[in-house]
Amino acid sequence: MNKKGITLVALVITVIVLLILAGVVISIGVGSNGLFEKTNSAVEGWNAKATEENVTISNALAILNQISGDNPPSTLPVGWNEEAVADAVTETSTIAGVNKERIVPIPSGFVASNYQGTGDEHTGREDQVASGLVIYQLDKTSTIEDVASITEITTENHTLALTNLNQYVWIPVDDINSMIMCQSNAKLPENGEDIAKVCNIELENGVLKCTNPAHESTSTALCGRLYYETEFSSNNISGKTEYTKAPKFELRDQVYSLNITNNYREPSVVTNKSSSDLNTILTGTSYDGVQTNHGFGTSNGTSASSKFLEDMETEFLKMAKSVYTYGGFYISRYEIGGSISNITSKMNQIVIRNTSAANNWYRMYAGLKGTVGGASSQMIWGCEYDQAMKFIGSSAYTGHRAWSLATTNTDNATKSGTHTDDIMNNIYDLEGNLREWTVEANGVEYRVCRGRYLVNTYYGNYYPATERRYEAPTNYNSPTDTAGDISSRRTLYVTI
Ligand SMILES: [Zn+2]
Repeated sequence: MNKKGITLVALVITVIVLLILAGVVISIGVGSNGLFEKTNSAVEGWNAKATEENVTISNALAILNQISGDNPPSTLPVGWNEEAVADAVTETSTIAGVNKERIVPIPSGFVASNYQGTGDEHTGREDQVASGLVIYQLDKTSTIEDVASITEITTENHTLALTNLNQYVWIPVDDINSMIMCQSNAKLPENGEDIAKVCNIELENGVLKCTNPAHESTSTALCGRLYYETEFSSNNISGKTEYTKAPKFELRDQVYSLNITNNYREPSVVTNKSSSDLNTILTGTSYDGVQTNHGFGTSNGTSASSKFLEDMETEFLKMAKSVYTYGGFYISRYEIGGSISNITSKMNQIVIRNTSAANNWYRMYAGLKGTVGGASSQMIWGCEYDQAMKFIGSSAYTGHRAWSLATTNTDNATKSGTHTDDIMNNIYDLEGNLREWTVEANGVEYRVCRGRYLVNTYYGNYYPATERRYEAPTNYNSPTDTAGDISSRRTLYVTI
């Protein structure tokens, strides 16, 4: 067979000849050393430079890999998204009296803290799941040297990292049935159990669903399990009532209901139309029924509200599946700061407040939604807030620990993370500063607020972090209302 052109062997020989000729010319030109000596020193010089370059390139790649998550550990559990997870932290904790190994995903773009604290609670260690594992978002806008210097959170750079990098805390969810149910879950009879009424959530063929045969019609209509039935107790403190509100996390009697009496529910719409029929509610032309409030649909009424609900349900299902797959989610360490277009979770930020239409529930909901590295981001759901309370435990249920720092001026909000005794499992601002919008709906027009805020009293009383608030007019909890004492909180789940 005839071949046209130049063969590889011929090309190599040609190049070698050219190189030798070049060497000879140079040799003649400088008039010193032989050809082979010159070639040897050139090769040595080349190799030394190549080694230097390789070190520089691999250093840069290591930094880029930590940012982009292109190089996750090879031991990630089956089913994990290797592109979304940069690293994993393994820890054995005692869960319900049993030693259990938790493997916590560190989303790409983040690093887990190595900070071991200095002893007291405010500066406690951040490297343990049981007391609040903290992750820090690497700042892509920094120069490569700045990023390189802060890829590990240690005692030396901790203070700098607190105010410069966004932080989130891992909320473990060891039992998905504690957090998610389907719309058929029903109250148990007064005495005894009726197993047909209780959900059982499992992943089947990649779909998260309720496997209770009696719930077949709603098996993928998943919703938040909301612990609004709480035990009350109260103490009298200097003439004020201090409440304890302990959610009954062992109960499985929650109901998803569109009927309007105390019907905390999610995901759901509020249109100011009262009905137990969803299609009728969707025809409402207030709040979620207004296209311009959220940008979904093509006109007011059914188009707007049903598109908004569809999007919300999709987000909820993704979140639920991720929490099931990874055994938890992340919560922002602080009330949200910065601006709606660039929301932060850092210490010492001016907290975003629900002071105008530009910062109302819809704007916060939209601003919190998106992608952060290997994680997806949302406004906190009610069931996520409940799981955070469950994780913190009894210190979140009782009293009002930050009240001693109170001011009588309700507008006197402080910067994020500055009330040094308002920290629980490394999460700041739960019991102080502002209330926090959630996605949870109530009645025909309310989105539910969680967390206490830093005034002396609320209707003359002190409440703990577990408190839920929804009612108007005093609290202005309709999503288009403005009230300067409301902020919000962000959650992240590993993108699936
Ligand atoms: Zn069910």
